[in-house]
Amino acid sequence: MNSAAVLMAESLYDRYMQAAAAHRAHGETCTRCSPDARCDTGRRLHESFTRLQDAYLRWQKQQRT
Ligand SMILES: [Zn+2]
Repeated sequence: MNSAAVLMAESLYDRYMQAAAAHRAHGETCTRCSPDARCDTGRRLHESFTRLQDAYLRWQKQQRT
């Protein structure tokens, strides 16, 4: 793996972890969010979390092949 790929992975992983933390923190404090109905902010945080998770898992899979 070259250094550019490592940097890319680290920033992707960082953003994925940040999105996960932001999403979790929001869920713990927001009174309008529930597992099946999210507020606008909760929905946006969840979308960016799942998008980054997908991107990260896809990237990880590519590294193994
Ligand atoms: Zn919310």
